[in-house]
Amino acid sequence: MSDTALVWFRDDLRLHDNGTLAGAVAGADRIVPLYVFDPREYGKGMFGLPKRGPYWARFRRESVLDLRSSLRARGGDLLVRHGDPREVVPAVAGSFDADAVHAQTKPGTEEIGTEEVVRSRLAERGIELERSWTHTLYHLRDLPTPYDRIDDTFTPWRKEAEREGSVGETLPAPGTVPIPDFEAGDVPGLADLGVAGSSEPDERGVLAFEGGETAGLERLRGYIWEGDHLRNYRSTRNGFLGPDYSSKLSAWLAHGCLSPRHVYEEVRRYEAERVSNEDTYWLVFELAWRDFFQFQLLKHGADFFTPSGIRGVEKRWRRDREAFRRWADGETGVPFVDANMRELNATGYMSNRGRQNVASFLADFLGIDWRMGAAYFESKLVDYDVASNWGNWAYQAGVGNDSRDNYFYVPGQAEHYDPEAAYVGHWIPELDPLPSEYAHHPWRMSEAEQAEYDLRIGRDYPVPVVDPDERYDEMR
Ligand SMILES: Cc1cc2nc3c(=O)[nH]c(=O)nc-3n(C[C@H](O)[C@H](O)[C@H](O)COP(=O)(O)OP(=O)(O)OC[C@H]3O[C@@H](n4cnc5c(N)ncnc54)[C@H](O)[C@@H]3O)c2cc1C
Repeated sequence: MSDTALVWFRDDLRLHDNGTLAGAVAGADRIVPLYVFDPREYGKGMFGLPKRGPYWARFRRESVLDLRSSLRARGGDLLVRHGDPREVVPAVAGSFDADAVHAQTKPGTEEIGTEEVVRSRLAERGIELERSWTHTLYHLRDLPTPYDRIDDTFTPWRKEAEREGSVGETLPAPGTVPIPDFEAGDVPGLADLGVAGSSEPDERGVLAFEGGETAGLERLRGYIWEGDHLRNYRSTRNGFLGPDYSSKLSAWLAHGCLSPRHVYEEVRRYEAERVSNEDTYWLVFELAWRDFFQFQLLKHGADFFTPSGIRGVEKRWRRDREAFRRWADGETGVPFVDANMRELNATGYMSNRGRQNVASFLADFLGIDWRMGAAYFESKLVDYDVASNWGNWAYQAGVGNDSRDNYFYVPGQAEHYDPEAAYVGHWIPELDPLPSEYAHHPWRMSEAEQAEYDLRIGRDYPVPVVDPDERYDEMR
């Protein structure tokens, strides 16, 4: 039994099913729980865009505060520092004379780079870094085929995992977390982190995402048990309005406030106690997608972020800044795209169907470098996760996983998934009075029709740069 173990919390801001924490508590007399706000995460990323935006940063802050109060309730506390973890973690470990440092390991190339420096600096002090893989449904060691040899296509990978893999049982939260005396430190505010822009989500949003394990467990309970929504999950998940068309668990999963294995156990319990059908299975199916991208990123590393992606598909990407700005600001003149981008900008969230459409519009319709879109999402999403975001973008741009190279016909998607144009009207109030055929295709309105609804295209709502009907005809 070692005397003191430092637990460096990363994207695992929870006590339940946290193998890193459980391992440290089992092996040491005293624990030093540490969270480090890394200034590099809040700086500029690709294309000069901020890395993490205000919604993600607010959620992260709330999650850290919640973790601190949960640790305090167990006799512990959370040491919080603001600085480069490559320096802070070894320095804190040294100052407590720690025997070991326990940390979550993640597949992101930057995250692995940071871990490596921390590992070697700890080794110089004779301290070992013990890494735990804790953020997927299937543990790395539970995969039938090792991650570096897995299939790059989702369906065969999933089928094999379902057939031959296993999902481990969750670990309970530790009853007590004994700590030495320390000055816990303040949790920095968003201004201290250098995060600009409002972090208050617009009240038109689907949910007021509140960070932290407590809120995450509450959302899971409310969605599955109280609201009884799981029985309809698959049939509602392509919705756009309201909190319950999908689980909305992504932010809590991305920040590690919820363990996917705990979600899985709750689904299984619901299936045993209430109903088991295609819809209940489908939530587990989506968690498998999430896993798939995590293992893919671990397998392919830096190739995940190249213009030609893991498949090396050579395409000529444009870098048209003005067209990109209009896309980002929700001013393309194509309402379904604009409504989704306005929702993202105002709340940090967008539905899965919305994400697929706006990504296809940027990469396929506008032909703009898909990585600009991925970097923009990175700076906006409350649920940003490196593997899910970059993996889905590359997939959508036709350079990633799966061999399909389809684009979304956005006007058709709009009619199908938003038949009354209620979603478009929700985020673009100037189009709300229009019947759906116009609300989805305002560029098709004649001058007389515009006069009838007192809406001038080009003054009240943008004209698309390229006529969507002509461009989609060319693409066919
Ligand atoms: C271009 C693009 C970018 C995306 N970026 C992210 C991201 O940064 N972070 C993120 O968590 N998800 C991302 N997704 C996946 C998906 O859109 C969101 O996870 C989902 O919309 C979140 O809402 P929900 O929790 O209600 O999902 P639900 O439909 O309730 O799904 C349950 C859970 O399954 C997982 N999941 C569902 N679909 C996917 C998927 N396609 N890929 C990976 N995991 C999935 C999520 O963890 C989600 O919480 C992206 C999708 C696209 C097309």
